[in-house]
Amino acid sequence: MSECIFCKIVNGDIPAAKVYEDENVLAFLDISQVTKGHTLVIPKVHKANIFELTPDVASHVFTAIPKIANAIKKQFSPVGLNLLNNNGEQAGQTVFHYHVHLIPRYGKGDGFG
Ligand code: 5GP
Ligand code: ZN
Repeated sequence: MSECIFCKIVNGDIPAAKVYEDENVLAFLDISQVTKGHTLVIPKVHKANIFELTPDVASHVFTAIPKIANAIKKQFSPVGLNLLNNNGEQAGQTVFHYHVHLIPRYGKGDGFG
């Protein structure tokens, strides 16, 4: 059994607040919300980081991202949105299952940057 926390979310072994799901991709709220609506987008298949990502998996993730960004925009009405992706411990990665952070922005003092 995988020890990967995001694989456990994919498998339904631990709960998450799902924002979007299709055959290949899952998006859910980050447990530690940097700003309201902070979402993580992951491939369902386990890939540690960008260095393991294949073109088809990258395509699945980045095909879903605009849809998810627009769903966040509709629900939370941010004035902007940052994409963030950390790869490797020295780059700030703490969960080693590839993920893209979608961080909605609400202007000065929104808590990010
Ligand atoms: P990283 O630092 O690897 O780019 O980001 C990992 C993110 O995963 C962090 O923002 C952290 O809050 C989030 N995270 C860690 N464990 C869980 C969890 O069990 N559930 C959810 N929803 N998010 C998690
Ligand atoms: Zn995993």
